[in-house]
Amino acid sequence: MSHRYRLYPSPEQVPTLVRHCSDARFVWNLALEQANLYRPDRGPTPNHAERCRQLSEARRETWLKEGSSSVQQGALRDFDQAMRNWWNGTHGRPTWRKAGHQEGFVVRDLVVRKLNAEWSSVVIPKLGPVKFKVSRALPEGAKSARVSLDGAGRWHVSITSTPVAREHTPTGAVVGIDRGVATTLATSDGQMMRIPTSSKMHARVKYLQRTLARQKRGSKRRAKTRQKIRTTNARITDRRKDWVEKQTTRLVDNYDAVVVENLKVKNMVARPKPKSDPASPGEYLPNGASAKAGLNRSIHASCWSMFERRLVDKARQTGVQVLLVDPAFTSQQCSACGHTDRENRESQAVFLCRSCGYSAHADYNAARNIVARGLDLAPTPGQGARRGRKTQSARVSPDPSGRENSSAEVAA
Ligand SMILES: [Zn+2]
Repeated sequence: MSHRYRLYPSPEQVPTLVRHCSDARFVWNLALEQANLYRPDRGPTPNHAERCRQLSEARRETWLKEGSSSVQQGALRDFDQAMRNWWNGTHGRPTWRKAGHQEGFVVRDLVVRKLNAEWSSVVIPKLGPVKFKVSRALPEGAKSARVSLDGAGRWHVSITSTPVAREHTPTGAVVGIDRGVATTLATSDGQMMRIPTSSKMHARVKYLQRTLARQKRGSKRRAKTRQKIRTTNARITDRRKDWVEKQTTRLVDNYDAVVVENLKVKNMVARPKPKSDPASPGEYLPNGASAKAGLNRSIHASCWSMFERRLVDKARQTGVQVLLVDPAFTSQQCSACGHTDRENRESQAVFLCRSCGYSAHADYNAARNIVARGLDLAPTPGQGARRGRKTQSARVSPDPSGRENSSAEVAA
């Protein structure tokens, strides 16, 4: 659990923060390089103590010594945690840190002082107290924090606290959720939710991009426009994040189990393969790439992955179950009689069963199929007929070790 606050460094404090960011990035990338060079035949990888020793050696000989050793060691710990997350299967493999992208560093042995009702300060190595706005209650017993710079040039401090067990009062209710582009979330009890689209802000970004294209390269005005684009984009992302937080909290509060499709979002947003033209080698036929790019943008904007990640995180804290089920044919199967036919889908929004005449909103019908699969009430069409499809439902149970139980249980 971490609570994020807006940090307001003075102009004189900014260069030191920037320096800490670049040190943390440098050390992280060194650690990643070392991890990439690892081969099993070269013996065990150096442990944390060994690398801290290597770091202090590097500090003696290089410009690293002018930076903060606590920030640099923090980056090593940060990297170790990222590697552990990767091993546990909750996150992808750590990647290179790039300048100007997700800049930040860790502050250990956290010291936070209250200034007044609105402001507090956090002690940053080599800098002393930097003030931040207390926009929400400060977590108790926090030991570390992360200072970060977002794409809009705003500084933040995320204070990490040990997670407090969220209270969940059993409700006996189970819900199925269909994730879509037109309706972001449709539930099996008939709710339809859309993520905020921020069309005014999107229009502003487009307008600013046109302005940017006209402006002279390297000019001050151009830099200003670019900054405005970043700020607007960051606001759009903030709104979406906020929406996902609210929806996932509501779900774990109201239901004992939430069933979602086991979507491989990464594969879904892959670019279509180029189609070469057999008639003239070296040239390519249309492959639908631009239409797919538009759909991909919508999928990204719907934040399906973020939704699932936050849902699983919160479910773990509350003891709510998240069930992942096979997504095959959820939109073509009739939730009343089980008849599966692509003709059942009248249109994007309307489902009409060719066999029993059941009619409903297509996303609602899909959500009902999803919850039925989660409860093992309905089989997946084509089960067993296709090779290589061995799982019907996979369970993600709340597991304190943070390891996602991805080994699927074959439902009877
Ligand atoms: Zn039917």
